[in-house]
Amino acid sequence: MLKVRKVDPLNPDYSIIREASEYVKRGSLVAFPTETVYGLGADTFNGEACLNIFRAKGRPPDNPLIVHISGINELDRVAIDIPEIAISVARKAWPGPLTLILPKSPDVPMEVTAGRNTVAVRSPAHPVALELIKVSGTPIAAPSANKSGRPSPTLAEHVIEDYANDDVDMILLDAGPTFFGVESTIVDVTRNPPVLLRPGPFTLEELRKLFNTEIVVPEFAKGLGEADVALAPGMKYRHYAPRTKLIVVECEDYDSLIKLLRDTVIDYLGKKLRVALLITKETANELMKYPEINELPVIILGYRGNPYTIAASLFDSLRNLDKLNVDLGIAEGIEERGIGLAIMNRLRKASGFFIVKCKDVSNT
Ligand code: AMP
Ligand code: MG
Repeated sequence: MLKVRKVDPLNPDYSIIREASEYVKRGSLVAFPTETVYGLGADTFNGEACLNIFRAKGRPPDNPLIVHISGINELDRVAIDIPEIAISVARKAWPGPLTLILPKSPDVPMEVTAGRNTVAVRSPAHPVALELIKVSGTPIAAPSANKSGRPSPTLAEHVIEDYANDDVDMILLDAGPTFFGVESTIVDVTRNPPVLLRPGPFTLEELRKLFNTEIVVPEFAKGLGEADVALAPGMKYRHYAPRTKLIVVECEDYDSLIKLLRDTVIDYLGKKLRVALLITKETANELMKYPEINELPVIILGYRGNPYTIAASLFDSLRNLDKLNVDLGIAEGIEERGIGLAIMNRLRKASGFFIVKCKDVSNT
């Protein structure tokens, strides 16, 4: 059964954290807020409990979990042969939304790493997550607390939506909305130069400064094409997907983007499909001038001028699309700068790589 407990995000009540830590200690599951998204956690050193995360999520067994530690002092409980660069980066970036891939300690069970000899580790910058790890006295292994394939949870309500009807021993710490709204940045530091496996709130621009080296950015990290399974396990699966079909419209030039969005909408309306728009406030103001568009259902993604607002509500926007009862969502693409890279990675994957680009139109 799912038990829900409200908790203050900045000053968590010790008795509630204590209650959740009892779940961890006896090998049950805890859904908890982090600064990125809600995680579904268990005691890292309890392989059977970690297996229950996979069962509860319906997660493919080859998709490893992230180990959450309370600070850099706990790193050697879960990783070995830690490169110098990883230590210096972790010192500056933790607690924070940066996950490092490191050689795994033999103490970490196979279930956590899905049989791999590397482990993903980070220290989360959320008082509830940090207190939970400390009071439990063990690193907590956790992927995002959504059902496999669904958009990640950024509100406790999303976790309830996915698990309320399940027969699973789980407690949910409801601390309201998570701060960033997209999952952590993942960097493989076992490779030289380091490889960005997943863009996140810790931006590429910041990583370059932090590492003071080149960072390899594979195409799949942008959300273009399938992941290399050897490098990025689990990322080949369809992710973040709403049930409703989704198209992403992308242009570098803003005027061309407005035109392409309008043309794409008119095209699908002509095919007698029910269309909803997922667009920024700025773009809504532009498109509402057109009578064929201003009657359509609209989900406001946030502000183009402040992409952090888009990240914060992105997964909620994708979940809300399914509640509109339309055939198709048409989403606005944004610039791949800063957190924009993480947003576009999630949007493109959510669309199953159904991307309409400016040059596609000028070619036809
Ligand atoms: P989630 O945050 O729910 O997406 O789950 C954790 C993510 O971390 C997965 O998508 C994995 O691809 C990634 N991950 C975990 N362990 C490793 C590893 N050893 N090597 C590469 N990626 C990993
Ligand atoms: Mg996930």
